[in-house]
Amino acid sequence: MLQTLKNYFGYDSFRPLQQNIIQNLLAQKDTLVLMPTGGGKSICYQLPALLMEGTAIVVSPLISLMKDQVESLQANGIAARALNSSNNETENISLRRECIQGKVKLLYISPERLLAETNFLLKDIHISLFAIDEAHCISQWGHDFRPEYTQLKILREQFPKVPIIALTATADKITRKDIVQQLALKDPQIFISSFDRPNLSLEVKRGYQQKEKTRSILEFIRKHKNECGIIYCMSRNKTESVAETLKRQGIRTAVYHAGLSNEMRDKAQNDFINDRVQVVCATIAFGMGIDKSNVRWVIHYNLPKSIESFYQEIGRAGRDGMESDTLLFYSLGDLIMLSKFAAESGQQEINLEKLHRMQQYAEADICRRRILLNYFGETMDHDCGNCDVCRNPPERFNGTIIVQKALSAIARTNQQIGTHMLIDILKGAANQELIEKGYDKLKTYAVGRDIPARDWQDYLLQMLNLGYFEIAYNENNHLKITESGQKVLFGKEPAMLVVIKREEQTSAKRKRQKPIKEETLFQTPVLPQDEDESLFEELRTLRKKLADEQAIPAYIVLSDKTLHQIAILRPTTIEAFGSISGIGEYKKEKYGKEFTELIKRVTRK
Ligand code: ADP
Ligand code: ZN
Repeated sequence: MLQTLKNYFGYDSFRPLQQNIIQNLLAQKDTLVLMPTGGGKSICYQLPALLMEGTAIVVSPLISLMKDQVESLQANGIAARALNSSNNETENISLRRECIQGKVKLLYISPERLLAETNFLLKDIHISLFAIDEAHCISQWGHDFRPEYTQLKILREQFPKVPIIALTATADKITRKDIVQQLALKDPQIFISSFDRPNLSLEVKRGYQQKEKTRSILEFIRKHKNECGIIYCMSRNKTESVAETLKRQGIRTAVYHAGLSNEMRDKAQNDFINDRVQVVCATIAFGMGIDKSNVRWVIHYNLPKSIESFYQEIGRAGRDGMESDTLLFYSLGDLIMLSKFAAESGQQEINLEKLHRMQQYAEADICRRRILLNYFGETMDHDCGNCDVCRNPPERFNGTIIVQKALSAIARTNQQIGTHMLIDILKGAANQELIEKGYDKLKTYAVGRDIPARDWQDYLLQMLNLGYFEIAYNENNHLKITESGQKVLFGKEPAMLVVIKREEQTSAKRKRQKPIKEETLFQTPVLPQDEDESLFEELRTLRKKLADEQAIPAYIVLSDKTLHQIAILRPTTIEAFGSISGIGEYKKEKYGKEFTELIKRVTRK
């Protein structure tokens, strides 16, 4: 097993659970695997497929996913093919022939095609195993339900002896039960790995207005020079306007949302996969078909509606295990809007609760990763050290007077104002509505002049979360003082607020691009040597050239992680090149010469 792993995939060791899963499958037993995105699910069936006789049939819901997997396997010299609606007749004929001759080790197939072929092609070939990828698509409760998946039960009926492995990154119990039942798995062994993704940094910025968000995003992208990422926005319009702003700054950016034509969406996706654009501004419609392993960052321009969505979206960064950054903007406006949606939705209670948990995450003053893992039913006994709270713990101060000013303004308008008007009153603004209503005559008018409006946004968000006022969604989002708010207003209790820290004040960015921590987890040796940045850029250029020649994405030629290892170790012989993690026999032969020659040339300079 280890030899095959090294020869084909270039890895020296298995990740946790991989070996047990593979052994279970080799023993012809049904298997269910729950692992987070980037956890290494593919090898769990690809390696057995190589070790077993015949062809492994892999069911996958999207053509783009199949394409990515097949290209990756072929790039490692493995005979893999895909059968789906994008093939033409000639391709199909030769594909069938190769399958029947036993030349194909892995055949990726869409569920529709699979159902159509159970009595034809599948009867003519020797099948080693069935792998059902993205198996949560079977569950109506899940987020990507695919009706064709529910018919996959016939595999068990028609091929009772062939082992089935189902894989998903969705962990909840209902989905799990659905998968086992609907696929009629026999006594399946279930493997659940930790959902922690230690290589993803977590950061939240609270109470930013549009202008500050823009500035902050530009700064963030500047720090991630040449590294691609995704910006998730709540609305289609927002994706367009954010993209416009970035383009004006010369950043190559694409837009992706459900309102675009199929062609435009495909183009955006392909440009991103092939590094022709650096950034995609997208609604949540973007992502499921993306297996790109070198997404280095994800920004949430708006608050997501649940931790599930959030975790899935940030999960698209750092699949290769390299350090990657995530940033969430949390604003009062988003919270009000999402609460309204949730309150008006069919499943009010559940949706409000989910939003509430998301809000708790965004508001946290304890390690954010602990909150995430706890949400997924895992406990972590230490702080992560890779979230903003760990790096920069919040400090509190006695903010009673600030809170009193705000609450008193609410009280003096008979609780008939929303947050915008409240801030205008506190700041002493002179807009028409304010004057008409006579709010400029209030005793609290302009008492908050000394605090910038953006800080008021932040304090109001804190006050809302401390429960000092509520938002009446059914009354134009007017603010209503609660009982605990009354206590602060009348001086019976103090209010402790968190000190606002802006960009300028936070600690300098960590040194980037060192394969960190995750190494210890996945047992690859940590290398003490430093990486030469200009060498890395030359390696990257060579990788891009090789990718373009073969019309495949750069990360399939070599992953970012492998490329960094090359820049650190600087191999000058083909053998040394081949010993690097992620380079198997095939890539060694194919790319060894060009890379080692480049290294010799550059390091001689
Ligand atoms: P998933 O399907 O669970 O999202 P993948 O199978 O795409 O994850 O694996 C994520 C990344 O981890 C890939 O780049 C893969 O090559 C790499 N990987 C998988 N197993 C190992 C291993 N044992 N050692 C090192 N890297 C691995
Ligand atoms: Zn932490």
